[in-house]
Amino acid sequence: MEQSHIRNFVIIAHIDHGKSTLADRMLEITGTISKDKIRPQMLDTMDLERERGITIKMQPVMMIWEPNPQILNPKSEMLNKSQIQNSKNSNSLEFRASNLEFANSTFVLNLIDTPGHVDFFYEVSRALKAVEGAILLVDATKGIQAQTLANLQIAQENNLKIIPVINKIDLPGAKIEQTRGEIAKLLTVDINEILLISAKTGEGVKELLNKIISKVPAPKGERKGGFKALIFDCVYDQFRGVIAYVRVFNGLIKKGDKIKFLATNNIGVVAEIGRFRLKYEPTEFLGAGEIGYLTTGERELTKIRVGDTITLDSPTQVSPIEGFKIPQPFVYASFYLQSGEPSLLRRSLEKLSLNDASLYFIPESSKSFGQGFKGGFLGLLHLEIVKERLEREYGLNLIVTQPQVEYRKTEDGKQKTENGYEEPWVRLEIITPQEYIGGVMELAQSKRAIYKDTQYMSDRAILSYQAPLGEIIIDFYDKLKSVSQGYASQNYEFIGYRPADLVKLEIIIAGDRIEEFSRIVPRLQQYQEAKKLVSKLKELIPRQMFEVALQVSIGGKIIARENIPALRKDVTAKLYGGDRTRKDKLLKKQAMGKKRMKRLGKIDIPDNVFIEMLRQ
Ligand code: GDP
Ligand code: MG
Repeated sequence: MEQSHIRNFVIIAHIDHGKSTLADRMLEITGTISKDKIRPQMLDTMDLERERGITIKMQPVMMIWEPNPQILNPKSEMLNKSQIQNSKNSNSLEFRASNLEFANSTFVLNLIDTPGHVDFFYEVSRALKAVEGAILLVDATKGIQAQTLANLQIAQENNLKIIPVINKIDLPGAKIEQTRGEIAKLLTVDINEILLISAKTGEGVKELLNKIISKVPAPKGERKGGFKALIFDCVYDQFRGVIAYVRVFNGLIKKGDKIKFLATNNIGVVAEIGRFRLKYEPTEFLGAGEIGYLTTGERELTKIRVGDTITLDSPTQVSPIEGFKIPQPFVYASFYLQSGEPSLLRRSLEKLSLNDASLYFIPESSKSFGQGFKGGFLGLLHLEIVKERLEREYGLNLIVTQPQVEYRKTEDGKQKTENGYEEPWVRLEIITPQEYIGGVMELAQSKRAIYKDTQYMSDRAILSYQAPLGEIIIDFYDKLKSVSQGYASQNYEFIGYRPADLVKLEIIIAGDRIEEFSRIVPRLQQYQEAKKLVSKLKELIPRQMFEVALQVSIGGKIIARENIPALRKDVTAKLYGGDRTRKDKLLKKQAMGKKRMKRLGKIDIPDNVFIEMLRQ
């Protein structure tokens, strides 16, 4: 494919504004997949994505599009009748202009669908490095939301051509004019530049495809020059080994070429090379401007890395392509296996981190659970998804400890609080309809947030705060949704560590301190949190043969206590006579039900206690 006829682009938007549905329509209209084979959110290929209705992984796909069907390329068999019909009807100026320019030609459109949730912004940021253009999609019933702004900002930082599009115009609640006004102001463009579409009915999607061709620049680079490609994603395939998803910036590569991975200093021979056609479709070569994949049969997971540059294996020095900043984890939690070899957990984490480059982990050991790993995540949803993927894709049974942000001890010489802790802070941006401003402000205040300013956009306000991350990461989003009837949205960005007045709550169960349950909380909330902890444990831990004391202490001083009464002896005495061990066995069974138990100090507790303790 001629380089001037390639367009690489992403669709960016706030969650649920219709990215994946738009991708479906594009696949359909370009004939990449026939209408009867398409299923909603086609590019959400993971079961987990389909069940939850969210995109977790970016997904590249190549489409072929003929912007001018009137003068058909004889070789092109991709078009169907309705496609021709519809394009004929198109009377947009844009389209007519492009007729002249691109007469009798076929274009390759490489689309990368991206997730919208803030926890997966690293996926978005990588996809942006592989393309020249971005469709900024805004739901006409919701208007611009916090994630719209955040994604737009990184698209602009990457110098992408932005194509603003309003989606869901088929809905009765669509506020088209208002949304147009918001976007025009935000991007300082003329309102006529903003396309109106329905990703559901397909209205306007052809015009959008044509607009991409006329507005998004063709990729630069030369096929003749030295080969250079950026790895923007990776997956592990049982048969092929590591599959690297690449954007070629210069030169050309063929099967059998000897290549070098610059950062890992790994050498390999290209075993397979190909394009994304909803499946891996092998091809002869990939040239400058193209997006595709390659394999070298590499099975060593650490040798091929997202963000690395690939060149031909030659003595010429090539400077690496500027990769991606590895994101800093926001929340930490530890993973242990309920049963099985810790090495299995390591291997699974390695494989998963190949495909989820934002996942961070280091070995850790615990008195109660043995060998495990401390993981770092971009948010709670990310943590939840990692846990689920490990369980589903790798068949593991996990115990996950309480997620917390990283509290550090203040370095010497810095301003200190009494306990010398520091906690991470973020810049928090909330977009809310004006009638909920009061509720949102009250909520923010209860989370120690510091108000900065308010800006207005149509009938909504953008509230800016600085807030401790630990306060907003757990349940802030849910609460925000409930005070705004689902209309407010948020985005946050790390700004640094600040001194914090925190205390460590230690949990003592039947006299044993259980480190896995301990947590760090603001001093102001110590009693409230301690009480919550013991009541929750009391609910979750089954009665034992003896009375169990649940205590919370701070530096040796008990600040909360609950007792779990012992099982009543006479119950068993009446029910079962006879020998003692049999009675004990029955009792134990009774207490446990069918649950799997974990020994903690003197008592047995069901495994789900750990999971339940995470839900506050
Ligand atoms: P994403 O999170 O941005 O990928 O959004 P999805 O593509 O998953 O869409 C979110 C929801 O909006 C789904 O229920 C879609 O069916 C719906 N949706 C997307 N586009 C349209 C549209 O143009 N009109 C209507 N009525 N619904 C749409
Ligand atoms: Mg999606």
